[in-house]
Amino acid sequence: MRKRGMADDDPAVACLDTDVLVVGGGGAGLMAAVAAARQRVGVAVLEADWRMGGTTALAIGSVTGAGSVLQRVAAIADSPADHYADLMAIAAAGPPGAMNTALTQWLCEQGGATIDLLAELGVSFTGPHPEPPHRRYRMHNARPTGQAYIRTLEQAAGMLGVTLLGGCRVARLLWDVDGTVDATVAGVATDVLAVRARRAVVLAAGDAAADPTWRAAHLGPWQDLPALNPLARGDGLRLGVDAGASTVDDAPQTGVPSLRFAQPPHLAPARGLFRAGAIAVDRAGRRLGPERKRAALCQAVAAAPGRQCYVLLDAEVAAHLATAADDAPPSRDGWYRTGKAYIATIGERAYAYLDDCRGQPWFAEGATLADLARATGLPAEALAALGAGPDAALRRPPYYALGPVGVWTAFTDGGLRVDTAMRVLRADGTPLPRLFAAGATGQDAVFLGGHGHHLLWAFASGRVAGASAAALPPRA
Ligand SMILES: Cc1cc2nc3c(=O)[nH]c(=O)nc-3n(C[C@H](O)[C@H](O)[C@H](O)COP(=O)(O)OP(=O)(O)OC[C@H]3O[C@@H](n4cnc5c(N)ncnc54)[C@H](O)[C@@H]3O)c2cc1C
Repeated sequence: MRKRGMADDDPAVACLDTDVLVVGGGGAGLMAAVAAARQRVGVAVLEADWRMGGTTALAIGSVTGAGSVLQRVAAIADSPADHYADLMAIAAAGPPGAMNTALTQWLCEQGGATIDLLAELGVSFTGPHPEPPHRRYRMHNARPTGQAYIRTLEQAAGMLGVTLLGGCRVARLLWDVDGTVDATVAGVATDVLAVRARRAVVLAAGDAAADPTWRAAHLGPWQDLPALNPLARGDGLRLGVDAGASTVDDAPQTGVPSLRFAQPPHLAPARGLFRAGAIAVDRAGRRLGPERKRAALCQAVAAAPGRQCYVLLDAEVAAHLATAADDAPPSRDGWYRTGKAYIATIGERAYAYLDDCRGQPWFAEGATLADLARATGLPAEALAALGAGPDAALRRPPYYALGPVGVWTAFTDGGLRVDTAMRVLRADGTPLPRLFAAGATGQDAVFLGGHGHHLLWAFASGRVAGASAAALPPRA
C-alpha cells in the first residue's frame, strides 16, 4: 500500500498499526474510543496535550437530554420531541445562523441513551435540574465537574485495551492511494510517529477558539479575546478540510464572548445576579457597565485593566438569592420555583448559591467595605465611594465580591459537516471514505444553545463515530 504524505525521508520515525484511530482525547474522542473498543477492535487515541481532557476537562459538567433513567426515577415524563421543541424555542430567541435541524433532532433522540451510558460507565450525576426555557427538568450534572467524564472514560478505555498516547499532536493525514477510485484516509502522522488505521480515522480534536486565523475570520471585534483552552487550535477542522471535507462557517453561536471567573472551574456569573442589583467594577474599583447588557459589559471588561472585573453585592442584593432551603431535592430548583437569583452554574450542584461560594478562591466577604477592600485588594476609597450617597450601589453589610472575572472565548461553534453516522461529508454531501468526526470538530450546524448541549453532542457523536468506525471492514 502506498501512502501519500509518508515519503522515504518522512520525519515520522515510529509506526503503529491499529483498527480505529482517534485524533484528540477530550470527551468526544474518549467516548469514540470506548464505543469502538466495545466492538472488540484495536483502538488508539492520539492527544496533543500530555494528558487527556481538552475543553471537556474544563467544563462545568452539565448534560441536557431527555429520557434518562434519572428522569424516570424522578417521575419526569419527557420525550426527544419535547426536548427538540424547547431547543427550537431557544434558537428562535437567539441570533440567526445556519442550523442543521435534522441533526439537531437526531441529537435530541440520543439524550437518554447517552446519559445512561455515561452513568453505566461510572459517571455519577445529580439532578435532573431545571434549565429554562426547557419545560422539563432535564439538565444532568456530573459529580464534581466535567473532569469526571475524562476520568471515567479514560479508565473505561484503559480497561478495554485502548492505546492512549499523550504529547502526540497530529500534523497531517496519511493516504491510501492504492484504491482504484478514491484515495482514502489511512492514518495520521505526528512529527515522530505514523499511525495506520485499518478501519477508520475519527477526528475529535475540539474547536478553533485558539486559532488566530479562524478567530480573525469569525470573531470580528472579539478576535483578540483569549481562549480558555489554548490547545483548541482548530487542527481537526484543518485536517478534515485537507481531506476534502466541507465546513459550516456561520453557526449561530460562533465564538460568543463569555464572562467567566479567572480561576478554574471558570464559572460564569449569572445574568440574574446583575438583575438583582450586583455591580461590576474594574481593579481600580471603577464601576463598569451597563451590567444588565451582556455584550456591553463584555466590551467594558475587555477594555478594563488586565481585562478583568469584580462582581460586588451587598446584603440587600444577597436577600434576592435563593438558598438551599428553597430547593426540592434531588433538584437544585429553589431559584426556579421562587424566581430568586443564583450566582453561577456550577458542577454537581448545578446552580451556586451564596453558601456554595464560601471557601472558593474567587469569593470574598467583609463585614465592612474596608474589610472587603482588604480581602480583594480593591482600593478602599473606591469601595467607600460605591457605598456612599443616596444612589449607593453597596448599602447594607455584609458585602461580597466575586472574581476576578475575565472575558474569554470559551468555545466556537460550527465544524465539519457530518451525517448521523458521523461520516465526514464533502460539499456535495457524499461521505469521505473511512473518515469520521465527533464533538466540536464534527459539529456541523447542530444547534446547541443553552446549557448542557455541547457535552451531549460530544458524547452522542463520539459514541456513534466510534461504533461506525469499528463496524467498517478492515482494509486489505
Ligand atoms: C469553561 C467551560 C465550561 C463548559 N461547560 C460546559 C457544560 O457544562 N456543558 C456543556 O454542554 N458544555 C460545556 N462547555 C463546552 C464543552 O466543554 C465543549 O464543547 C466540549 O467539551 C467539546 O468536547 P470535544 O471532545 O469536542 O473537544 P475537547 O474536549 O476540547 O477535546 C479535543 C482534544 O483534542 C486535542 N487535540 C487538538 N488538536 C489535536 C491534534 N492535532 N492532535 C491530537 N490531539 C489534538 C485537544 O488537546 C483536546 O484534548 C464548556 C466549555 C468551557 C470552556
